[in-house]
Amino acid sequence: MNVLIVGGAGYIGAHVVKACLSAGMTVSVFDNLSTGKKVNLFPQVRFIPGDILDTKALDAAMQGQQAVVHLAAKKAVGESMENPEKYAVNNITGTLNVLNAMGKAGVRHIVFSSSAAVYGIPHIPEIDETVPTNPINFYGFTKREIERFLVWYERLRGITFVALRYFNAVGYDAEGDIRGLESHPQNLLPIVMEVANGTRQELSIFGHDYPTPDGTCIRDYVHVTDLAIAHVQALTYLASGKASQILNLGTGKGHSVLDIVRRTETLTKQPIRYVFAPRRHGDPAELRASAAKAKEVLGWQAIHSDLDTIILTTWARYQR
Ligand code: UDP
Repeated sequence: MNVLIVGGAGYIGAHVVKACLSAGMTVSVFDNLSTGKKVNLFPQVRFIPGDILDTKALDAAMQGQQAVVHLAAKKAVGESMENPEKYAVNNITGTLNVLNAMGKAGVRHIVFSSSAAVYGIPHIPEIDETVPTNPINFYGFTKREIERFLVWYERLRGITFVALRYFNAVGYDAEGDIRGLESHPQNLLPIVMEVANGTRQELSIFGHDYPTPDGTCIRDYVHVTDLAIAHVQALTYLASGKASQILNLGTGKGHSVLDIVRRTETLTKQPIRYVFAPRRHGDPAELRASAAKAKEVLGWQAIHSDLDTIILTTWARYQR
């Protein structure tokens, strides 16, 4: 299968590229390297430098493709609230450009990076796909709206899709093939790692008075290699002519912020300095996926996502 991976030089994208190559697919990567890294580009891929706001570049990249994996997006929740225009243009207009180019070139399948952020603050800790979406930040809103566009592009242009709602993506390729580290990370585990390796002085833990056993937030951390495998399964699924799907990707298990800090200290043998800070606006106490539907539809299950594997594969990249 010829696959165009839009955003294939990014953190999740590079892991998806590796999984697709391992499955024998022919991979082209379309990326503007704004946050993606050159070191993440595998030598076996055809690299097409380009921006999803450049419709001509997209039209050219679609030639000869059978499917698209679309991961190119802005993803900082806080920034999306301060600069919604940037998120509207990059995430929504950019994705419409991808879909329009697919329609023109006759590419009929897309796997789309969605997010648990579409759910907002649900009233139950374990979420399946029937829980109503109610994003509480503009980033989550863009993902939810794109899912709705996908439904219409299927109806009107026959493009079938799998939208994958990632929970907390963490970890690194265990073989060390993906080296690019995110600059200025905003997510918990990279920040913890930067404290462990001395790049950063301390971690601020956002809230310690949540109704959880240790008072800190609980999240569903899923290894990026598991996420990557789901994309391969979704591509195979779509290529066999099956119906579009929206699927959660998570483990169903939760870890608190302090669980992550303590286990990282034990495994890295480095002290993690932290301070308790006020709650971050819009953080639910506990968020876990029900991934039963992904198992039923794709046969997918997280198999690399135990906490030690997550921490150790990440530490291998961050260790100086
Ligand atoms: N978190 C924290 N300090 C940080 C970054 C994150 O305490 O500097 C907490 C955050 O409140 C949440 C968890 O870590 O409970 C995971 O946050 P992250 O931003 O990685 O992902 P999110 O769950 O927001 O998608």
